Amino acid sequence: MGGLDLKALGRPKRCVIQIKRQALLSALQGAKELYPDEFIALFRGEEQRGHLVLTELIIPPFAHGDEDSSSYSPYFIPANSSEKASFHSHPDPDTAYPSDEDLYYFSHSGGFHFIACHPFELKDVNGFDALGKQVAFEVI
Ligand SMILES: [Zn+2]
Repeated sequence: MGGLDLKALGRPKRCVIQIKRQALLSALQGAKELYPDEFIALFRGEEQRGHLVLTELIIPPFAHGDEDSSSYSPYFIPANSSEKASFHSHPDPDTAYPSDEDLYYFSHSGGFHFIACHPFELKDVNGFDALGKQVAFEVI
């Protein structure tokens, strides 16, 4: 409300991404069920006043993973869709960081990307932007 707050403009908000707890828990559940294969999915979201709220998990119909990789590209993110972020799992502990392949994929798909590693609890999830830079997110 009120006028433009110029002082706030240069100061990025701490969390630009919020994700509904249920959406993230569904993704983690999928990761647990497919373990040790990779689970991949997308999150639907909406932009609200400069931040992104991810609301719902979408499991792509032809997604499949194996122990080394997951396949994404053919169905991923038309420019005008409401799919705003991807999610995939890594089967090993402490590996919630993008691989070289992941970085390539992130840079070509834009948006935001979540990686969860075994044992797929909330603390095992990291978020990244299209450049592979880790971003903060808030579970709501
Ligand atoms: Zn990966």
